[in-house]
Amino acid sequence: ADSTLTRNFCIIAHIDHGKSTLADRFIEKAKLYVSRGPAQDQILDTMDIERERGITIKSQAVTIPYTAKDGKTYELNLVDTPGHVDFSYEVSRAISSCEGALLVIDASQGVEAQTLANLYMAMEHNLTIIPVINKIDLPSADIDACLHQIDHDLGLEPEETVLVSAKTGAGVDELFEAIVKQINPPEGKDSLPLQALIFDSHYDAYRGVIVHCRVFNGILEVGSEVRFMHTDTPYKVEEVGFFQLGLVKTDALHAGDVGYVITGVKTISDVRVGDTITTVKNAAKNPLPGFKDVKPVVFSSIYPVDTNDYEELVSAIERLKLNDASLIYEKDSSAALGFGFRCGFLGMLHLEVVQERIEREFGLSIVFTSPSVKYIVHMKNGDVINIDNPLEYPDPMRVEYAEEPFIQANIITPSQFVGSLITLCMEKRGVQVGMNYLDEKRVELLYEMPLSEVLFEFYDRMKSVSRGYASFDYQLIGYKRTDLVRMDILVNGEPVDALSQLVFRGSSQLRGKQVCERLKGEIPRQQYKIAIQAAIGGTIVSRETINAFRKDVTAKCYGGDISRKRKLLEKQKEGKKRMKMVGNVEIPQSAFLAVLKSD
Ligand code: GDP
Ligand code: MG
Repeated sequence: ADSTLTRNFCIIAHIDHGKSTLADRFIEKAKLYVSRGPAQDQILDTMDIERERGITIKSQAVTIPYTAKDGKTYELNLVDTPGHVDFSYEVSRAISSCEGALLVIDASQGVEAQTLANLYMAMEHNLTIIPVINKIDLPSADIDACLHQIDHDLGLEPEETVLVSAKTGAGVDELFEAIVKQINPPEGKDSLPLQALIFDSHYDAYRGVIVHCRVFNGILEVGSEVRFMHTDTPYKVEEVGFFQLGLVKTDALHAGDVGYVITGVKTISDVRVGDTITTVKNAAKNPLPGFKDVKPVVFSSIYPVDTNDYEELVSAIERLKLNDASLIYEKDSSAALGFGFRCGFLGMLHLEVVQERIEREFGLSIVFTSPSVKYIVHMKNGDVINIDNPLEYPDPMRVEYAEEPFIQANIITPSQFVGSLITLCMEKRGVQVGMNYLDEKRVELLYEMPLSEVLFEFYDRMKSVSRGYASFDYQLIGYKRTDLVRMDILVNGEPVDALSQLVFRGSSQLRGKQVCERLKGEIPRQQYKIAIQAAIGGTIVSRETINAFRKDVTAKCYGGDISRKRKLLEKQKEGKKRMKMVGNVEIPQSAFLAVLKSD
């Protein structure tokens, strides 16, 4: 391949601005696939959950041949990226393998928080950035406002902006031309020692681990002996190729190419994203600059609703891990719930995705315990311990103080919502560190806040107080001192260990009340009265009662029509699968998750 005809680029944008749809149009325009029946939307979003939720979780790569107006056929390597903060590490991987980025902006929304965050990331890697205004077909499109923001907020050239509709395909040809003209071909030489950057990997049941890489220098050839420099493991190259809508084999990947390599690696965990592949002979002296390790920030335990399903849960987790190196886990056990796993997640969305996959792909009913961040606890005897499980929180008498992780949040909002957002941030223990008027109508708020406050419900609250208009992004800034207590939940006097949580003392009263009310709403009436209590140390801080049901109410349901009765019974059986016995009380799976939410 002639690398002067190669263009490596990614599409970055705030969530929902149309990256995946635009990628579809590219693939379609390039006539890369033969249409079989109605075309599927979001072709690159291959996981079921991605399709249903309309979010992109894994970055995907695809090579698109394009014959430009100059008559030459270019090879465009496109990497689609996710937009949600939980998965921002996927974006940084994608960016490192490209020379250019299309920064997509929704014409009806304008610049949002992750537009900025992604722009900064692309600038750090010196990418050529092409501003793209998408959704110009919408009646609410405000192209002039977007052009102004591109100039004023982003410091990019409004004249270089390409206007498109990923929905209708308008402007996509112009965008192809802009990519060819504005983005530089990859540098790097075939004659230098091999340096190929691993930017992703996925697991294929038949082929094993498929490593996604970008060759910066040298040639990655079938049959050669290679070494992964950071993990320092040797492999033999079994196959290399390009991504089309599937894998297309070739003999070698050259400097500038984006493609895959199969080397007989057995599990995803053996591959470090950010590692450099080089040859054993004539090895590169240095690895390419790698990536930061991805660290989980939310911890929770998973238990099967039916303890007999434990073995199935073991295999489900192992299978998920094959394809999701960011999921970490270890064995765990609970008095209330039996055997399970303590897991680490990138954020609440990641947790929900894992939950859905276990339930959907493996048909298992599971419960999650209250998610927690990782705290640093300083003991009176000088020991310093990390705690992410409320059950491991030491006796408060022995604790000197605790620290919790903080973030800096960057919120962009129309100015009329500033007041309500400030109130919300203060309620979440936020401290304002900046407030900038981007223009007459929009404000950027900068806040330092505890991560724990942001994880669990901040996003929904922010959207509701700003009628959906505010957007936010955050990054971890480190640990700060906090005042932590452990709150236990008792059901009919029995502590349910899986519902214990670590909370800020100042919010504990309110939190206890919320949790008890929530549980009251989720636990169905049973034969006897149920008391739900929140306790800190020996003190009950809140209490709710669920009254026993009256027999006649159910009797009525069972009268009459036989098929209706059968349906009801089946529904009940289905419901039972999702119930967990704690002492003598049946707690539905939904109750465990409901504890996290509060309005
Ligand atoms: P992503 O999160 O950036 O990958 O965004 P998606 O590609 O999933 O698009 C988000 C939503 O916007 C989907 O409902 C798309 O159908 C819609 N969308 C994307 N591009 C356009 C467009 O050009 N015009 C209109 N009207 N809708 C679009
Ligand atoms: Mg997407």
